[in-house]
Amino acid sequence: MTTQFDLIQRVLLGYPEQTQNLSGPHRRLADAWTSDLPGPEISGDVAALLGQVLRHHAAVTGRRNHILEIPLDQRAIDRTALCRAGLHTERFGATHHHVRLGDVWAPHWLHGDPHWVDLACASPGPFTSADGTQTPTYARPTHPVPVDPAVQAIAPGIDYYRSPSQASALRTAALADPAATLHVVLPTGTGKTIVGLAPGLLRSRGTTVVVLPTIALALDQERQLHQRFPASKLAPELAYYSDRDEQERAAIKQRLREGTQRILLASPEALTGELAFLLRPLAAEGRLTHFVIDEAHLVRTWGLSFRPKFQIVASLVGELREVAAAGGNTPPRVVLLTATLSAASLLLNDQLFAGSADSLFVGSAYLRTELRYLLGTRASPADRIDRVIEAMHHLPRPAIVYTAKKGTAETIAARLKEAGFARTAVFHGDIGPAERLGILQGWSGDGGPTTSDIVVGTSAFGLGVDQSDVRTVVHACVPASVDRYYQEVGRAGRDGHAALSVWLPADGDVTEGQQIEKTTVIGDDKAWKRWDAMRTAGRHTHQADGSFTLDTGVVPEHNDRPSDANQLWNRNTLVFMERAGLITVERLDPPVLERGPDESETAWQARRSKQWAHFVRQVKVRLGPSVANLDQQTFEAAAQRQRRQIKDTESASTARIRRLLAKDECWGRVLSEEYSYTAVGSMHATQNVAAACSGCPADRHLHEPRHRAARPLVAEARMPDLGRQPSSALERLGAGHRSIVVTYADDRLRRSLSTLIQACVTNGVRGIAAPAPLLALPAIRSAARFADEGIVAVDPLRTRKAPVCLALPSLLIADPEGTPPMSWLAPTRGPLRVVVVPEHMNDPEYPDEAIKNIRSPHWNIDDFLRRL
Ligand SMILES: [Zn+2]
Repeated sequence: MTTQFDLIQRVLLGYPEQTQNLSGPHRRLADAWTSDLPGPEISGDVAALLGQVLRHHAAVTGRRNHILEIPLDQRAIDRTALCRAGLHTERFGATHHHVRLGDVWAPHWLHGDPHWVDLACASPGPFTSADGTQTPTYARPTHPVPVDPAVQAIAPGIDYYRSPSQASALRTAALADPAATLHVVLPTGTGKTIVGLAPGLLRSRGTTVVVLPTIALALDQERQLHQRFPASKLAPELAYYSDRDEQERAAIKQRLREGTQRILLASPEALTGELAFLLRPLAAEGRLTHFVIDEAHLVRTWGLSFRPKFQIVASLVGELREVAAAGGNTPPRVVLLTATLSAASLLLNDQLFAGSADSLFVGSAYLRTELRYLLGTRASPADRIDRVIEAMHHLPRPAIVYTAKKGTAETIAARLKEAGFARTAVFHGDIGPAERLGILQGWSGDGGPTTSDIVVGTSAFGLGVDQSDVRTVVHACVPASVDRYYQEVGRAGRDGHAALSVWLPADGDVTEGQQIEKTTVIGDDKAWKRWDAMRTAGRHTHQADGSFTLDTGVVPEHNDRPSDANQLWNRNTLVFMERAGLITVERLDPPVLERGPDESETAWQARRSKQWAHFVRQVKVRLGPSVANLDQQTFEAAAQRQRRQIKDTESASTARIRRLLAKDECWGRVLSEEYSYTAVGSMHATQNVAAACSGCPADRHLHEPRHRAARPLVAEARMPDLGRQPSSALERLGAGHRSIVVTYADDRLRRSLSTLIQACVTNGVRGIAAPAPLLALPAIRSAARFADEGIVAVDPLRTRKAPVCLALPSLLIADPEGTPPMSWLAPTRGPLRVVVVPEHMNDPEYPDEAIKNIRSPHWNIDDFLRRL
């Protein structure tokens, strides 16, 4: 077999046709070598990639003495760059050089094991030590479970859920009470996207709106969704963004009007701006079925600073739910998805999106053990830049360098380019969309050669970018919170293989990061003006009971024109005030509208949408029970309290940053604290994140072996009880019990299975557990067609573990060879279950008796079906 190492050797010797068969660092080295860039400008890049390729080969073979032959002079590569990268070069013949690995890079200012660089270079491994022992670089826990047949029908490539947690999340998203808000936390690489999108596509019609933070992410998802859901015949354009071709945008809008746009991917800005007016009629007619907020941790980290529209998405969601309910339709199901969520973020999201209504939490988080953490001693800002440049001669690619400010990003990128790293790109908030796309393509090598290996940027970069083989994240800054730091390092090693975090702090860092985080929109000085304007305009609506009706369409004096965004900001002010206990918000009765006998379709539509627009703007409020006089002083005091609360949680996280930098405790412990919480919010969300750390600079690092990854303890998320009730007919057959026993004689089950499943699912059963041989039968595989939600949870019978679907009204078919557990026959809690057993099967508690003789209610299968 020709290895990547042999192939890259051929490319370096002048056979570029081999480039197409290369991948990872080998491909990057070939792309750099064969590029048009002058040698001196890419000397650093070439040196670092040669080092990475040699280390990779050393790590997978267990020998460090490999040699690459390379015509350095011919390409005008500066040999001193190779020297800086710790490589030995030796002249070979007239024009060529031999290059091999030198000593391990171990600068005195870096804490942590320098061999972790070798380990990360080995990815995707395995890593072979000098004594021949092999260690996998793969570090992700995997517990696949069979996918529900209905999901497989729309996504044929998926045979398994990645984890029981993913199954719980998807089923909950599809089957929960639509009025409840669902928060989902699933670790990176465990399939969040399908949890957000499948529930909408399982239904025969309806629109799912997905809020995404960046255009890059929206375009990436658009491309993936067409491949993943071929059966759903999705429209060609799913992502709406302002730079999209005008005709394509118009096509999306037209399909939204017709209700045929199954999926809409958009930014908070687009949704609360030009799309809001199209979503309201969609909701009013019950055709907006799902609303998904992806990367939901950003509502807090970005929504409270430079992307405030993340906050008012919540107000839009509130409006759309009201509009749907008022029209007598099911409101859209709301799901917030993220990979890591601090308690503070969860609480904020819940307050904004669920308000006082119900919410649910399905979360399973574990710390990423792909990562090894290295930490530099504190330096002056100038010395830090020198260290970044030194480090870039050694660290594996692709790499991201994070800075706090765009100015610093530009400075570092310029210095890197001067030092021979021309394959460096800069990315921050001011880079236009076209340029962003160019940077991403050049970085990932999608559709052409790679043109950059390093991206220097602010935290805006890398979010949701589907680049799974990032091997290094450097922090040339101190992030304001542990949450932000962890989100950023989490962009490395998404393929599950070993990767590095290299943190290089400098004097004066902390204040820089905090200043950025400090700007907070909630309850700012404009909020009082908004409230004052709404109250003044609504004065005449005062009722004797103290309530009054406000018009969120009012334009406060600091704004000059009415707009959807203005209206949503007004509503957001009311949400903030309700949360602060200043007011309570009440529901208004929707307008009763009837079409006039002679009214044309156009006139009726126009009148109706005008009335609806008016209704949506109205909010009925009264002052909070403990508020006597709502003046500016009271208002400011409440806003202060809110800000202090946010700051307090922030400072807890900042304190953890200091603990990481102090390197007294294993970082796994500090990180687990950031993400562990108990009984947060109204849904009592609890998340236990075990301390797991494969390598950190702390003196008391927990996990000893040098190369093997720590194994995180995973607490899989179970489905919460969704409170689903079966039909009253099925309830009657249960006669007040939690389980109904149905018996069958010899061969009756297979003959009646289709009828039994149809009867049960039509009567509200949404879970089926059966022995594996039955699961392949068409009756079970197509059970979901009798469910409005388009899904029935199907689990194979497991003898020791309770099936997941017990959180739903279920049909449990016992294994004729075994005995059903007592929890089926005499459950103490949970929804109704129909337990199907052979006629003569004996009872688990009284083995001398047949189940049918001692358990009640009990029906034989024919009676059961006749009565249902
Ligand atoms: Zn540790």
